[in-house]
Amino acid sequence: MPALHHTPVAGLSALLTAGELSSVELTRHFLDRIERYQGELNAFITVTPERALADAAAADARRRQGDASPLTGIPYACKDIFCTRDVLTTCGSKMLANFVAPYESTATARIADAGAVLLGKTNMDEFAMGSSNESSFFGSVGNPWNIDCVPGGSSGGSAVAVAAGLAPLATGTDTGGSIRQPAAFCGISGLKPTYGRVSRYGMIAFASSLDQGGPMARGVEDLGLLLGVMAGFDAADSTSSDANEDWLAGLREGRMPAAEPLTIGLPKEYFDGLGAAAASLDEARRVFEARGYRVREVSLPHTEPAIPVYYVLAGAEASANLSRYDGIRFGHRADNPHDVRDLYVRSRSEGFGAEVKRRILTGTYALSVGYYEAYYQKAQRVRRLIQQDFLRAFGDVDILLTPTAPGAAFRRGELTRDPVAMYQQDVYTTPVSLAGLPALSLPCGFVDGLPLGMQLIAPHFREDRLLAAGLDFQHDTDWHHRHPEGWQ
Ligand code: GLN
Repeated sequence: MPALHHTPVAGLSALLTAGELSSVELTRHFLDRIERYQGELNAFITVTPERALADAAAADARRRQGDASPLTGIPYACKDIFCTRDVLTTCGSKMLANFVAPYESTATARIADAGAVLLGKTNMDEFAMGSSNESSFFGSVGNPWNIDCVPGGSSGGSAVAVAAGLAPLATGTDTGGSIRQPAAFCGISGLKPTYGRVSRYGMIAFASSLDQGGPMARGVEDLGLLLGVMAGFDAADSTSSDANEDWLAGLREGRMPAAEPLTIGLPKEYFDGLGAAAASLDEARRVFEARGYRVREVSLPHTEPAIPVYYVLAGAEASANLSRYDGIRFGHRADNPHDVRDLYVRSRSEGFGAEVKRRILTGTYALSVGYYEAYYQKAQRVRRLIQQDFLRAFGDVDILLTPTAPGAAFRRGELTRDPVAMYQQDVYTTPVSLAGLPALSLPCGFVDGLPLGMQLIAPHFREDRLLAAGLDFQHDTDWHHRHPEGWQ
């Protein structure tokens, strides 16, 4: 019997149903662990013990009345980008260091309706801009596998909370890799749904044509439970979709999509020059082949421009979205301004950190008169070509298998002075985001004691394929059962 904090959600749910454990006891267990390890890991920005214990007591009552779903009474950690009524939502920024949203995001409202218990809000890169969690105003986060390494970003706090057993489940968001890359760096599983699958209502906007919320957990079954609750059409988000939703209801009851051996494509551009991760990816491919999956090479010729295209478009959208933080409508307000211009300039200069400023400046530049066609419009065109590459590949194969990131977690401070090197981390995740596709990162090995992740990519609205294939893989491997030592 594994420790409670290593037990999959279905197992915890069974203990709650059998009355062998109450949600209050389970919640205390996780709150105690957070208290013990928060100092070293800094995975949380806000911890909500009183509310958690009250929600847990309510969940216990609900279970006694026979009105429970598998998530009722299960604690979870929430990225601090989802607005939560009465609980601070900072988005990792000084700009929102005192912001208490007057409303609840759709995703967190649905999780609360299912009866899950909010433990707290997790640390993240400022406004979700980063790949290492080092741009957070609230300090960087330690990777539990090696405290001197980054956990990845921007959903680094969520990944660490799950990896160190401070929460069985967490929410993340992914604009260009922010669920998948930290999941890979921390040895857990993470799913970025199809654009439009999870409502963006109440999720603080970074780049609205790319942002997507999704689940993070140790294993694929747990991802399915949380995805089932988070996903689904929402009239409050104009880009929300109800495509291929039938199987989501099953997920909420713990029924995973049926698996059958699929054809996997290996995009050759993603394996060129791949270092230490290559052997693990090869091993993963053999696991699938042994289960009857077919594997063939495919080509995604427009892979190389994905990073510049992503950083032009995401920056442009961010520059527009972040204009609301001006000290008047939203956000930090500078003291004693001598006029309105001084108020804007100082509020924004004081409230935003260096990486966010860099994105606003480059994004504004790409949208400005005389440069709009050369940068923004051209990037939009190349985005279309990137998407077409994927659609063509999916004419021949059912899913794609790639690395999640170029390597394992890097050292804290190693890339902070070189933004372009930091951006290179996103080479395998941004093309998928630009195409709006769903993708799953799963642990698939280790290098120098640090976990490695692989990415499965599916056609639009086919998360069912990802879950089925991921489940097959985790049936025959135990990477997702490995835990970092020292967080007992
Ligand atoms: N690392 C990427 C960036 O900095 C992706 C971030 C994200 O997905 N939110 O923009």
